[in-house]
Amino acid sequence: MQPLIDYARSFRQQTAARPEEFARLAEGQAPQALFITCSDSRVIPSLITGARPGELFELRTAGNILPPYDPEQPTGEAATIEYAVEILGVRDVVVCGHSHCGAVGALVRGDDLTAVPAVRDWLTHAAPRADGTKADGDPAIADAAQSHVLAQILRLRSYPYLARRLDAGQLRLHAWFYEIHTGTVLAHRPPADTFVAHPARPVRAAPP
Ligand code: ZN
Repeated sequence: MQPLIDYARSFRQQTAARPEEFARLAEGQAPQALFITCSDSRVIPSLITGARPGELFELRTAGNILPPYDPEQPTGEAATIEYAVEILGVRDVVVCGHSHCGAVGALVRGDDLTAVPAVRDWLTHAAPRADGTKADGDPAIADAAQSHVLAQILRLRSYPYLARRLDAGQLRLHAWFYEIHTGTVLAHRPPADTFVAHPARPVRAAPP
């Protein structure tokens, strides 16, 4: 932990080199997308996308699971999504699963989670797709994790304020899958119902 503390203590010196960029952030935010992904420490949205401060509104949960929409049971997840869409006017929502996901692995294997009851109960929200997930023994559990992403996309569609915007053509949903061992980002292509690598295009330089 100490290296992290030391870095945080010196971070102010780095912002001093870019005072205008950071001062602008005080004026408000207009993020390009809501990025929903797992809490896994190996998945870093700004690293994957090259996003600078202010460009991504993030929601991270164990296993990038979203709870069912329930107006009687407000959740942090629903509040974050609602704020992104209704207040910030975000027009793109990414759900990004990943390889080697502990949560999806536990679901696929049917692990005994008695010792972590909050995790056990949270994973009941996972709602796998009707076509099921495959416990094929692959340590990367890619098939299961990709199916899991699509299940969360379906769940998002059940959030009424999202459904309204989707119907009006004002919102786009993106299902992504990140391979943590290769750095490859795959995107779901509905016509083929498969995840494929993003075609290479010129990109801007990553933030320093
Ligand atoms: Zn995960």
